[in-house]
Amino acid sequence: LETAPAAVDLGSSTRPFDPYTVKRDFPILQEKVHGKPLVWLDNAATTQKPQSVIDRISYFYEHENSNIHRAAHDLAARATDAYEVARQKTARFLNAGSERDIIFVRGATEGINLVAKAWGGRNVKEGDEIVITWLEHHANIVPWQQLCGATGAKLRVAPVDNTGQVILEEYERLLGPRTRIVAMPQVSNALGTIVPVQEMTAIAHRYGACVLVDGAQSVSHMPVDVQTIDCDFFVFSGHKVFGPTGIGVVYGKPDVLAHMPPWQGGGNMIADVTFEKTIYQPPPNRFEAGTGNIADAVGLGAAIDYVESIGREIIDRYEHELLVYATEKMLTVPGLTMIGTAKDKASVLSFVLDGCRSEDVGKALNQEGIAVRAGHHCAQPILRRFGVETTVRPSLAFYNTKDDVDLLVATLHRIQAGRV
Ligand code: PLP
Repeated sequence: LETAPAAVDLGSSTRPFDPYTVKRDFPILQEKVHGKPLVWLDNAATTQKPQSVIDRISYFYEHENSNIHRAAHDLAARATDAYEVARQKTARFLNAGSERDIIFVRGATEGINLVAKAWGGRNVKEGDEIVITWLEHHANIVPWQQLCGATGAKLRVAPVDNTGQVILEEYERLLGPRTRIVAMPQVSNALGTIVPVQEMTAIAHRYGACVLVDGAQSVSHMPVDVQTIDCDFFVFSGHKVFGPTGIGVVYGKPDVLAHMPPWQGGGNMIADVTFEKTIYQPPPNRFEAGTGNIADAVGLGAAIDYVESIGREIIDRYEHELLVYATEKMLTVPGLTMIGTAKDKASVLSFVLDGCRSEDVGKALNQEGIAVRAGHHCAQPILRRFGVETTVRPSLAFYNTKDDVDLLVATLHRIQAGRV
């Protein structure tokens, strides 16, 4: 048997970081769109995949494919090992205490739904309160609304200031003896605000509330340590961290998971079944009913290897510089207003352009090969808080360069001048 391909040279954390070099690791970034080189600035929607991730998934289907856990033959053992190694890598990536704290799901959305249904179903009762923030993606609003609808609990929303940062005093004022859970993003997908999750978690815990951090927009940009944050749950999606779609993660504190009932029933999650009674597996298997997305979990493991080979401190520092550079340059475009100007921001450059519909700006940029998102970004409440229904949203990753930003800004100048 050939050995599974290493993601990248893991000794390479000493290799100097060069965005032009890492860009070459991503085959799709060599694509042309409308005859122009693709400039991918839609990273908040999804990230591109390095060759090592693509190869790892192919290798799985070529050499390891089997269902896991139950069949007693070689391929089952290979598939199980590959899947469980991915779980270990994910645990290390988040600095979870154990791989048993890591549940594989389809994505951040499914992760939040799992917690709302399983934890919320047991712990939230009529008259209880659930606190979220104005910054939420719809994925961190709708499941809690549904839980409120089912239980008679109340949803309370922590406001933000005019820069798009959560107002901590107002947040704390919402907490009380009936607060059961606080859910918050670590980074806002619409504005890029970095939320002080560690401080907000400590405050929530003082009121006896459980905390879920939505890390969909943070894990690809900065080091994340769930034990330091001290959150009870942390969720993210593989596809936003250079891994495949259809795989995501819920981290849960072991004592919280131990007391949480399953949300779906079926194979894999049971220890014993009779017609009278089912005994469940301990976490994490209790929360992974049925055949999971094995190959893409393995692909996520390869994506984590790739990110770690660059180093998240390096990514954080580089992207911060690029964000500052891009913000300054963009403000030279006549009639451009940035939406979201918090002091602590990551990756996202949401803006509106006087006299232009966001959708038209997105289409004009696309004609030049520049991919950005234009719309409500599944975060309607926070955009309305700033008096807009839509924005144009370029969003950065470590493979973006100053050249990408310069092209974006030059094209925006031409759009404003009516030349595109
Ligand atoms: N939370 C945030 C902050 C997001 O940006 C997104 C996706 O954009 C999600 C949750 C949902 O992620 P997914 O669609 O991968 O489940």
